[in-house]
Amino acid sequence: MNSLKIRFTENEMKNEKTPAEQLVFGTKFTDHMFVADYTEGTGWHDHRIVPYQALTLDPSASILHYGQTVFEGMKAYLSEDGIVRLFRPEQNMKRMNISADRLSMPQIEEELALEALKQLLEIDKEWIPKEQGTSLYIRPFMIATEAHLGVSASKTYTFIIIMSPVGSYYKEGIHPVKILVESEYVRAVAGGTGTAKTAGNYASSLKAQEVADREGYAQVLWLDGLERKYIEEVGSMNVFFKIDGEVVTPALNGSILDGITRKSIIELLKYWGVPITERKVSMEEIREAFLNGKLDEAFGTGTAAVISPIGELRWKGELFYVNNGETGELSQKLYETLTGIQRGVIEDPFGWVV
Ligand code: PMP
Repeated sequence: MNSLKIRFTENEMKNEKTPAEQLVFGTKFTDHMFVADYTEGTGWHDHRIVPYQALTLDPSASILHYGQTVFEGMKAYLSEDGIVRLFRPEQNMKRMNISADRLSMPQIEEELALEALKQLLEIDKEWIPKEQGTSLYIRPFMIATEAHLGVSASKTYTFIIIMSPVGSYYKEGIHPVKILVESEYVRAVAGGTGTAKTAGNYASSLKAQEVADREGYAQVLWLDGLERKYIEEVGSMNVFFKIDGEVVTPALNGSILDGITRKSIIELLKYWGVPITERKVSMEEIREAFLNGKLDEAFGTGTAAVISPIGELRWKGELFYVNNGETGELSQKLYETLTGIQRGVIEDPFGWVV
C-alpha cells in the first residue's frame, strides 16, 4: 500500500482519556480515520488516513435518499503486553463485500482494507482501552456519494473506517436479560436485504425496540417474515438454545445475518464435541420445551456482547423462564473461552486471532 497517504491530526487525544467505566458505546472516536474513494471506470483511489472529521456530501447524494450503504462491526483488543488483537477480521471484510454486492455497490479491496486498518490501529493505538472487558470498536462502512436523484446505483462511493473506544459490556459480570418476542414487525426478509449489513435493516428494527423498551424488555426476538412462527435473531444478535441437552440455532435462510460470533460458536462446540444443529426453530417448540422443563439455556451472540444470556421470554402474553433466570453453564463457558481467545489469555487453536 505505497499509495496510502497519512495526514496526522494537530489536535491529538480529543478524548482526554475518558475513564473506561465512563465510556458510552459509540460516542467517542479516535483521532484518525481511513478513507478511500471509488469512481466507476477508475476503481478505488486516494487511499488515506486523515484526522477524524465531518464529511461533505451533496444534498442529492444517493446515500441520503435511497440508503445505498453497507457497514461492518468488529473489535480490537489490547493486552497487558501491548499486543493489539483482531478477531477474524478477514471475515468482516468478506461479509462487507457480500453486503456490498446485494446493494449493487463495488467490492472493497479486502486485504488492502485490512492493511489500512492495521496502520490506523498503529497510529491510534493509545486510544485502545486496556481494562478487562474493554475494546476498540471498529466501524468500516461504505456510502454512495453520487449527486443524482435517479433511482440507480451510484457511480461514486467512499469507504471509511472509524474507531471508537468502548467500555465493558458487562460491568457486573455476564447476566441474563428479558426478551420480548415480536409478532408484528419483522427485521428483514429473504430476497430483500435480509442478510446484508445495511442501514435500512437497522432503521426498520427501531420501532419494535421502542415497544420492548416501554414494556421493560432488553431486546426483541425476531420471527420470520412469512408466518411469524420461526425464530430468526435476537435484537442485533444471532440466537442459540439448549433444549434437552442439544444446542440448536436457526439455520441461515437469507434473512438471518451470518454472524461471525455465531460461526465461531458452532466451530467451538464441534471442537468440544457438543452436539450442535442448525435448523428451523419455532416459538411453539420453545414453548413446549419450557413447559416440559427442557429449556436449558438460551443466549444471543454478537461482536458487542459476545454472549448475552436470555433469562425470560414473553410470547403472546405467556412467560417462559430459562434456567431460572440465571446464566447457564454452557453460556458462561462459551463467554469465557471466546473472550479469552480474543484477549490472548486462552490459546487459539483455530488461528482466529490476528
Ligand atoms: N445479527 C445482526 C442483525 C447483527 O447486526 C449482528 C452484529 N453484526 C449480529 C447478528 C452478530 O454478528 P457478529 O457476530 O458478526 O457480530
